Amino acid sequence: MNLQHITKSIIVIFGATGDLAKRKLFPSLFNLYKSGRLTPEGFAVVGLARRDWKDDTLRDVVKHSIDDSENEEIINEFCSHFYYQPFDITEDQSYIMLNELLERLEYNYSIPGNRLFYMSVSPQFFGEIASSLKEYKLTQSNGWKRVIIEKPFGRNASTAEQLNDEIRQAFSEDEIYRIDHYLGKEMVQNIEVIRFANSIFEPLWNNQFIANVQITLSETLGVEDRGGYYDKSGAMRDMVQNHVMQIVSLLAMEPPIRLTPEEIREEKVKVLKALKPISRNEISDYFIRAQYSPGWIDGEEVTGYRSEKNVSPNTKTETYVAGKLLIENHRWKGVPFYLRTGKRMSSKSTKVVIEFKDLPLNLYSNVERKRVSNLLIINIQPDEGITIILNGKKMDIASKTKPVSLEYSNKIGSISNKPEAYERLIYSCIIGVATNFAHSDEVMLSWNYVDLILSAWENNETPLFEYQAGSMGPKAAEKMLAKEGFCWWPI
Ligand code: NAD
Repeated sequence: MNLQHITKSIIVIFGATGDLAKRKLFPSLFNLYKSGRLTPEGFAVVGLARRDWKDDTLRDVVKHSIDDSENEEIINEFCSHFYYQPFDITEDQSYIMLNELLERLEYNYSIPGNRLFYMSVSPQFFGEIASSLKEYKLTQSNGWKRVIIEKPFGRNASTAEQLNDEIRQAFSEDEIYRIDHYLGKEMVQNIEVIRFANSIFEPLWNNQFIANVQITLSETLGVEDRGGYYDKSGAMRDMVQNHVMQIVSLLAMEPPIRLTPEEIREEKVKVLKALKPISRNEISDYFIRAQYSPGWIDGEEVTGYRSEKNVSPNTKTETYVAGKLLIENHRWKGVPFYLRTGKRMSSKSTKVVIEFKDLPLNLYSNVERKRVSNLLIINIQPDEGITIILNGKKMDIASKTKPVSLEYSNKIGSISNKPEAYERLIYSCIIGVATNFAHSDEVMLSWNYVDLILSAWENNETPLFEYQAGSMGPKAAEKMLAKEGFCWWPI
């Protein structure tokens, strides 16, 4: 079967009038269309939501979501593949009508029953949609069927397990694609390549040579108009349980024997299984939480978290987490993996810093830095690339060194042709490659790890620190590294 036949499909978007659909899904589908990965011969999109729209209303919204003034003809052609059905997730009739519409479109476009259901609605509906799809036989077409589930996947281990059970009533594990959009980012996918395609790194990638690993996901934005959602979630659920844990497993996994989704997953799962469990009374040695207080971002005064719209004035929800993970296996025993993530920090950046151990005897001192370790920095966003920090000779002073950086930046190449994370992930799902999606084993292991910490925080068993908006977090996060002889590398 050729690729064109496999990609012939109908994409059904639940929540087509929502923010995610407009900002990410429609533009990503357009890029797939423009680049020929979705072909006019076998592609249709059905948008579903409560509003009483017509096909043309949706087509108009899709058109305006695409920022590409040079390709008006292609945009119009692309939009003509969109169909809208007013839909209530809780009503049986909606599913019956949807099945009729899908059968009609499959006939008109000669699509061999391939159906991709994209759940871009509130997570409370995921289970209900899955069981209704099965009940009304929408999952019984002749082709493949797959479902993409948006985050958050549960709010703890037990709700994630329940959600898994509900979705598995209609879809098997290999048909479930749990989105973690960080896994669609170029440099996150590049972690495997840097590690496993370069002989200069892999021999050093262990506790003999690496002193610590630092993962930073910092945002300058506050909660904007998502205060209601965020206040029930917090940084641990929103960023650590999913994105940070995925990055840790890619950094720490053993080389897979093949590049298949199954082999890679197996290695990632082993990392999560090897995380050193922490007991309740040592949580504050490993994890700290904080909230932003008023401050300044880019010269503008901003409010503290507790004064944000739709946030409770007494809220204890964390907008910042710093933590230390220990991986108890041969490769990583003794190497701390530090992580920090937060809102309203001084810069927007996603970065991994690998700090190598010092030489046993280094005869040179550095004129700029007290610490002279070599660093490998993986820049994930907004810059994409890698930087290696070495020690070079300071001109005219034989015994002194200065940091020298070797940089590779993706910006050198053509950034305008760069596929967006959602674009890659949707396409991977259409061609049935699940490598860059979260498997239920990974999701469950990760929830099991963070659940204990979240429960201690909910009981106020550890301090809730403050950090000024526009800073890099609370002092407590610096102390956590300082007491182990390390510091956060500037980002
Ligand atoms: P949104 O509130 O903007 O849109 C929700 C959509 O669901 C709307 O189209 C609405 O009509 C539809 N809907 C609600 N109740 C319905 C019902 N009973 N029947 C039919 N349709 C109904 O939400 P969003 O921001 O687009 O988020 C969608 C999903 O994506 C959520 O799971 C969210 O957590 C996730 N997500 C969103 C973002 C983002 O940037 N917006 C980022 C990451 C994850």
